[in-house]
Amino acid sequence: MKRRLVKVAIWGFGAMGSGMAKMILKKEGFDIVGVSDLYDGYVGKSIFEILSLENPFEHDVLIEKNIERILKEEKPDVVLLATDSFTRKAYEKIKFIIENKCNVISTAEEMAYPYAKEPDLSKEMNRLAKENGVTILGTGVNPGMMMDLLAVCISGVMENVEDMKISRVNSLSPFGPTVMEEQGVGLSLKEFNDKLKNDEISGHVGFIESTYMIAKALGLEVTDFEQSMSPIVTNVDRKSPYGFAKAGDVAGVDMRSFAKLSNNTKIDMVHPQQIEPEMEGTHTGDYIKIKGTPEINLSNVPEVEGGIGTIAICVNMIPHVINSKPGLKTMIDLPVPRAIMGDVRNLIDEE
Ligand code: NAD
Repeated sequence: MKRRLVKVAIWGFGAMGSGMAKMILKKEGFDIVGVSDLYDGYVGKSIFEILSLENPFEHDVLIEKNIERILKEEKPDVVLLATDSFTRKAYEKIKFIIENKCNVISTAEEMAYPYAKEPDLSKEMNRLAKENGVTILGTGVNPGMMMDLLAVCISGVMENVEDMKISRVNSLSPFGPTVMEEQGVGLSLKEFNDKLKNDEISGHVGFIESTYMIAKALGLEVTDFEQSMSPIVTNVDRKSPYGFAKAGDVAGVDMRSFAKLSNNTKIDMVHPQQIEPEMEGTHTGDYIKIKGTPEINLSNVPEVEGGIGTIAICVNMIPHVINSKPGLKTMIDLPVPRAIMGDVRNLIDEE
């Protein structure tokens, strides 16, 4: 007898949440049992109408402002939470999900390794998850894979790891207005510097999480960590679907971080992100260089596109999260991610 469909709810139907719904609809063995989003233009509408896709289920999925009914009545196996970047902001939502005895996968960047910045909240999430018999995971393309888990995995063929340099040169062009604002795209240099001073530009969130994840995986401690952010000023007018930077203005941010681990291993991260990088000869890519035995020099050109990468890894981790022992988990605790190509039900352990 076939296992019942894997019941998924989506909280946050923005670029990531809606992309996850589209991916799930192409796969076998899933049921989307509910979607929640605050946006008034969506509330009450069918996700199939919004996505212009056919409904493969025997029921409709109307977007609800409040997730409560979905959790209590539909009892999803897992909730894909795609609303926030910071653990503190996602915490109450995660707590509510797990108290309703559902597993959760969060796209919040800080949730990729919440122990780095929020050790107390992490302990509390771990305790609550165990108490309710469910699993919490934070993941995404970065943090979650390209600048951390990939380096951890490849270190598995090394006898000795010395210094790491991890770079991700990416394009911000596919992203929406929120990202343009968070990264300062289109600002004059003066506006950028003023906002930077007032802490109004977040840049990439995730270096500290990626660094702590790698250190933990290698059995080391982080002893020093610092990061920097500087504007990428364009020499030509650049236009993306949601962004515009005229010559002389800011097209993105160049982020760097430098960390030292307890045995003096250094981890350096380089992450320039901007709209239309090719217009000035910058090509995207993901690079991992590790000194040690043997030396590692991985390169993936062009970059793994951030949107698809995040959508896919969240959906692909669903069986691992359902099968996991309860608790707050990170990508270094669960089996390696892999694409779900067959019926997802075959990947779920017997109950
Ligand atoms: P988005 O702005 O397109 O979508 C967020 C959606 O959540 C919006 O539709 C909004 O209405 C909804 N929302 C917010 N608060 C809500 C609430 N309380 N209840 C119901 N709905 C609510 O953002 P996105 O591109 O989909 O990304 C989602 C989050 O994931 C962002 O914070 C982003 O930074 C993060 N992210 C992380 C990675 C990674 O690699 N780790 C990659 C991509 C995105």
